[in-house]
Amino acid sequence: GAVSGSGNLKQVKLERESELRIEVSDEPLRLRVVNGTAEIFGSELPPEIWRTFPPRLKFAVFTWYGATIEMDGVTETDYTADETPMVSYVNVHAILDARRRSAKASTSTDSGSTQGPRVIVVGPTDSGKSTLTKMLLSWAAKQGWKPTFVDLDIGQGSITIPGTIAATPIEMPLDPVEGVPLDMALVYYYGHIQPSKNVELYKALVKELAQVLERQFTGNPESRAAGLVINTMGWIEGVGYELLLHAIDTFNTSVVLVLGQEKLFSMLKDVLRSKSNVDVVKLHKSGGVVARDSNYRKGSRSSRIQEYFYGLSKELSPYANTASFNDLQVFRIGGGPQAPRSALPIGSDPVSNPLRVTPVKIDDQILLHSVLAVSYAEEPDQIISSNVSGFVYVTEVDVQRKKITFLAPSPGALPSKFLVAGSLSWLESVEAR
Ligand code: ADP
Repeated sequence: GAVSGSGNLKQVKLERESELRIEVSDEPLRLRVVNGTAEIFGSELPPEIWRTFPPRLKFAVFTWYGATIEMDGVTETDYTADETPMVSYVNVHAILDARRRSAKASTSTDSGSTQGPRVIVVGPTDSGKSTLTKMLLSWAAKQGWKPTFVDLDIGQGSITIPGTIAATPIEMPLDPVEGVPLDMALVYYYGHIQPSKNVELYKALVKELAQVLERQFTGNPESRAAGLVINTMGWIEGVGYELLLHAIDTFNTSVVLVLGQEKLFSMLKDVLRSKSNVDVVKLHKSGGVVARDSNYRKGSRSSRIQEYFYGLSKELSPYANTASFNDLQVFRIGGGPQAPRSALPIGSDPVSNPLRVTPVKIDDQILLHSVLAVSYAEEPDQIISSNVSGFVYVTEVDVQRKKITFLAPSPGALPSKFLVAGSLSWLESVEAR
């Protein structure tokens, strides 16, 4: 028999094409498949083996052919649903799979025909975009493809910390607890969680990311044929809509999947009508998608930052480093305090350049508790076009001794002395301990 931790064992029998929807409580939940086969967001669960799911995680265990699931622990909610959009989702996967195969088989010298599908998932907040993205990536990886995951969601992205846009090849179905591996990720730091803070910067970074991927594809027919799956933000009105169009265009998207919004679907269908090589597809939102309020979002943003420095279950300890003000340079992009008009030469325009890179005085206490990116730039003017190697968290600024103390996920010197600040901060003492 199983060794039960809490004595709350429960078995659930799932019929074919149904799912068990779970919201984990404040205590972790253990779960396993005792019979049949089941998957979490496209990633199959190994038979018999207990897995532990962290507090507050919301997920579904889906079965194509029937399964028996065993849970150990008390959930916030758990219920079975037999109405899901999974068949329509897997049909999309089948079409993408056929396109990947034809791209791989193509011997044409025309680059278009060796390019696999470039899929973008769009829709309002809490429509299941990230979840569908994960499924499409995991199903593709299960069949041996290595699609590239692009996450443009600076608020609730799943590759690294908030405030970033990033891409990474997916070589294995995604682990439902561990998420996306970071070791091969290409990360750009935007530094804010609202795209409206600096729309021009957001667009510039999206463009940089797309260009780098394009170059990588040129030398890599395998990942070229596997294509892209792009997750986006839930901001679909006004400037948010404009940013969606910008992403669709910048990545040369060939498939637009619209989740749960008729209006967005018809708008996109309309504007993309002239592009015969773009398919716009409407998909139903799953009834299982859980709406998350702003508090929950805030909490999950701060746990993403905590996870970056401390690991998923606080198994890592970050390194505290101290550097002298002279050894580091901190920059901010755009914004910043503006010179009053009276201080400017007559006739000049006080409007700040959103892409201007300006040094931040380190003795500025504003840096305390902020999350800074470590840029790969070799010169300050390369900061916008450079990706970042990782992040540090400023724990102390000692103006007297001109020293700055920060946490970093690895020991030793930083790979570069150029740090980028945004508006992202984190109160470690409150949230991580
Ligand atoms: P979006 O990316 O559109 O904001 P998500 O894909 O992140 O939405 O889904 C919102 C939340 O709902 C997430 O916590 C996700 O794990 C959960 N969720 C999605 N689909 C299901 C489902 N079928 N059953 C249970 N929870 C789900």
